[in-house]
Amino acid sequence: MKNEYKVAIIGGGIVGCSIAYHLAKFGENDVVVFEKDYLSSGSTGRCAGGIRQQWSSPHNVLLAMRSVSLFEKLSQETGVDIEYKQGGYLVLSYDDQEAAQFEKNVQMQRELGLDVEILTPKDVKQRYPYIDVSGVKMATFCQKDGHANPHLANFAYARAAQKLGVHIMTHTKVMAVEVLPNGFELFTNRGKIGAKILINAAGPHSREIGNMVGVDLPTESYRHQIMVTEAVKNFFNPMAISFSGNFYMRQTKHGQFIMGQGDPEEKPGINNNVTYRFEREMAEKMCAIFPFLSKLRIVRHWSGHYNMSPDAQPIIGESTSVPSFYYAIGFSGHGFMLAPAVGEALAQMIIYGRTLHVDITELNLDRFEKGVVREKNVV
Ligand SMILES: Cc1cc2nc3c(=O)[nH]c(=O)nc-3n(C[C@H](O)[C@H](O)[C@H](O)COP(=O)(O)OP(=O)(O)OC[C@H]3O[C@@H](n4cnc5c(N)ncnc54)[C@H](O)[C@@H]3O)c2cc1C
Repeated sequence: MKNEYKVAIIGGGIVGCSIAYHLAKFGENDVVVFEKDYLSSGSTGRCAGGIRQQWSSPHNVLLAMRSVSLFEKLSQETGVDIEYKQGGYLVLSYDDQEAAQFEKNVQMQRELGLDVEILTPKDVKQRYPYIDVSGVKMATFCQKDGHANPHLANFAYARAAQKLGVHIMTHTKVMAVEVLPNGFELFTNRGKIGAKILINAAGPHSREIGNMVGVDLPTESYRHQIMVTEAVKNFFNPMAISFSGNFYMRQTKHGQFIMGQGDPEEKPGINNNVTYRFEREMAEKMCAIFPFLSKLRIVRHWSGHYNMSPDAQPIIGESTSVPSFYYAIGFSGHGFMLAPAVGEALAQMIIYGRTLHVDITELNLDRFEKGVVREKNVV
């Protein structure tokens, strides 16, 4: 570790590593990433790896579309096979009001250039005879959606960043930050370092980092549980999700089924425990919709955190009160899929003063002063 860097990034999840990689790719490699545990130990390594472009807010659609174009090249660009598969995302609606909203979403998504289909329950049954469509009102499908292995994608960005000269310090916790007239001093468990630019990519701990520099970041972290079955031969191509049905499910490259749901009873805070209630509820619901699952054993169950923002869209930008303090936080359960585009956009903002592919200015912190329009397509 040097004493002084141009850029210090707090967080070695996919967001921090994507930012680091893109900074180095665009010519700035005087960069250090601090990770208090190991790479992908946070939300990234605990997530389902879904990559979906079907959102209700145009910003999320555009960021996800740009991310998909970057995910398509990521294995080749970094030399790490991230197990990327574009098997599509099947979004099932069990609610008339939601189904009507889906029609509007699809119109907006198509206007932005996304190829999305609207399916009747009969269409779903024809395509996927092994899904029980009882109660399904309608579905949407985008073939270019899909999934990847979150650990491998996190490592892909980290390794590629390191090859370009970025320093990654694992097991190094940032415990305090002093704001200086011309930069920052960071106090870690391995000593202190100076940086001209500080980036908060601390995921569930984003608010704590904001507090260290005196910026109130309105994020709250909520536990989300997830479980995986034993492996069987691959046959299930899409990732299936339902907001009204409150679930998501996919088959991994190695054959396991991975699935989760939200819990409205969760309280904000860091909680890594798991509950039997989740396993029972999840198993009952999923075996009814995907009857083939009833023959499989659950082999593992863990939890991670959604770092929620008030409108369930990420908060990205530079602080107006503390110059050179940037953040890419509040991903609200979709930071894995947005990380490529967000890393690229933030790096461009820092290096060129503007983004070249997706405009992120409206995702800055000050948007909450104008009111909150919530992203609806979240489990
Ligand atoms: C069960 C579950 C399922 C999900 N499924 C999906 C999905 O299908 N698709 C999707 O796009 N998203 C999904 N998500 C959300 C996704 O995991 C997150 O949005 C994403 O991983 C955020 O990445 P990150 O790099 O910002 O955060 P993290 O991966 O949490 O990285 C932040 C890192 O910062 C480190 N850190 C924190 N404080 C400090 C400090 N003081 N000093 C040093 N290091 C520090 C942490 O140790 C952590 O490793 C899911 C999340 C969960 C929990």
